[in-house]
Amino acid sequence: MNIIELRGINKVYGTGDNQVRVLKDVNLDIEAGDFVAIIGQSGSGKSTLMNILGCLDTASSGNYKIAGENVAGMTPDQLATLRSQYLGFIFQRYNLLSTLNAEENVELPAIYSGLKHQERQTRAEALLSNLDLGNRIDHLPSELSGGQQQRVSIARALMNGGDIILADEPTGALDSKSGENVMAILKTLNDQGHTIILVTHDKNVANYANRIIEIKDGVIISDERKKPNKNSAQDYHPKDDNRNSFAYLKDQFTEAFKMSIQAIKAHKMRSVLTMLGIIIGIASVVSVVALGKGSQEKILADINSMGTNTIVIMPGHGFGDRNSSKYKTLTVHDSDLLARQSYVDSATPAVSSSGTLTWQNISVTAQLQGVGEQYFDVKGLKSEEGRFFNREDVKKGSAVVVIDQNTKNKLFPNGGDIVGSTIIFNRQPLKIIGISEKQNANFGPSDTLTMWSPYTAVMNRITGDRNISSITVKVKDDVSMTAAEKNIIRFLTVKHGKEDFFTVNTDSIRQTIESTTGTMRLLISCIALISLVVGGIGVMNIMLVSVTERTREIGIRMAVGARRSSVLQQFLIEAVLICIIGGFIGVLFAFGIGLFFSLFVKTFTLSYSAASIFLALACSTLIGVIFGYIPARNASRLNPVDALCD
Ligand code: ADP
Ligand code: MG
Repeated sequence: MNIIELRGINKVYGTGDNQVRVLKDVNLDIEAGDFVAIIGQSGSGKSTLMNILGCLDTASSGNYKIAGENVAGMTPDQLATLRSQYLGFIFQRYNLLSTLNAEENVELPAIYSGLKHQERQTRAEALLSNLDLGNRIDHLPSELSGGQQQRVSIARALMNGGDIILADEPTGALDSKSGENVMAILKTLNDQGHTIILVTHDKNVANYANRIIEIKDGVIISDERKKPNKNSAQDYHPKDDNRNSFAYLKDQFTEAFKMSIQAIKAHKMRSVLTMLGIIIGIASVVSVVALGKGSQEKILADINSMGTNTIVIMPGHGFGDRNSSKYKTLTVHDSDLLARQSYVDSATPAVSSSGTLTWQNISVTAQLQGVGEQYFDVKGLKSEEGRFFNREDVKKGSAVVVIDQNTKNKLFPNGGDIVGSTIIFNRQPLKIIGISEKQNANFGPSDTLTMWSPYTAVMNRITGDRNISSITVKVKDDVSMTAAEKNIIRFLTVKHGKEDFFTVNTDSIRQTIESTTGTMRLLISCIALISLVVGGIGVMNIMLVSVTERTREIGIRMAVGARRSSVLQQFLIEAVLICIIGGFIGVLFAFGIGLFFSLFVKTFTLSYSAASIFLALACSTLIGVIFGYIPARNASRLNPVDALCD
């Protein structure tokens, strides 16, 4: 029974004038169970023939049948399956993967053929023990002698059965004793029924074989049988490909994942440098977003401290209106009428006056706000000492005043009996009845001295004016702000005969701020995103270099049966893993930046959201996929023979 049939095989390298025909119309049949040596001088085409036999390379023309299957026209993946099912390779230079130990190297073909984890481990250990390597199972190739490495590679060739073992100069790199040992092993394997095809330039090595074929300049010049093929009665059994089950895919993924981690560990420095771009990108995205969010939260907290569901009515046509101070349209009467509306909880008029404040020999400029008794509630002010004025004070227009911390510090640096003292504002005496606690500074710290008196007192005693500077309306809880605002506008417009005032509500301020900080954040995030993309390009760059550097590894994987998709998956996982690890480190860096920031800025902190961190990690995964794809595809498109011969 012929396991291999070659008919009219030609191999041509190069094109045009540089064309070389390395194999010329080769016809060859090899029986199952035979031991064949192919000999010839260097450059005669032995390796080229071997690579075609091993489905690592394709012939330029001719027909090749292996185990009855026609190889011509098979896709790269079908060839990989064929290699995995029938073929085991032994190379002159062993071709073990340097990052995997002996057992992992032996397991490799079974990973790609889909043997279960436990079974392949047991089998790999058994094979190694049979070859006297039982005590070298977890050694790396670099920790093994040449002879030992070649035995590991024999075990690897046997892992999936190795019906046909192809050995290209297996003793070429070994001393004579190790060489004899390897040949003895091959002899034993042949006795057990394996078909062995050996390439050598050494007559002594060839003498182990049953049949010796000599090749010269790509032509078979002699074909001699020395011994009969004891296994000639042997048949081969077509094998099933069971490599598409879910368990297989899952196992492939886990293994590719493990190998990626090994590859990353094996090149620590390079991995870290690859990650650097991602680390910087992610750290800046996350901390910029956190900074934006932190400052927005701070501003919103300030707005909330102004009191929610309040609407402020002011004279004029808006904040930008230069003539607004000339408008004398709002009156206490307006405020009283508004207070009686069904949707209004309370309405407080306010006047404001700035002037000179005097206490003993200190004279400073201060702001005096004339407000109603609800003012302190609405603004959420607390008293530190004394009390706030009440309805009675407002009704009577009592000459009392509540001072803030700035005023207290300025006038009474040494403390003392502050409450009860009488200060002079614009030549009018005012008795201090209370001190307010430090307020949340609205929009940054302010050093204005602020005091509050009943609006009646301010209007009667200080400004002498019937008009007020604003009305603060507190809307009832169950009333919508927009409806209330509309009603107020309608009511006052009817009363005044024209709209000579404008309204501001905290909601609209909040919306403006949210939209402006939102825009800012978007802008900064875009910049940070660009840095991420740059990081991604860095990853791609280094992965591309790494693929060229690792062509031999890729060739070995393909020789032992890895399909293109497995190689693609492996490199893609590596790229994604690098990006995710980079992303994690980036997030940690961002927290570090926040910590550092909090040492210097006390007024607000960076606010990290789970969403932004999740998004950052998702982003880095995506970058790994996008920028890892091209290098991974390049790796998977390599021709196994080119990858091995580099
Ligand atoms: P052997 O293994 O018998 O020493 P090879 O099969 O490696 O010989 O090479 C046979 C001939 O084919 C040599 O002349 C070599 O230069 C040529 N050759 C091998 N591979 C290539 C290639 N990829 N491109 C061009 N020429 C090649
Ligand atoms: Mg060769």
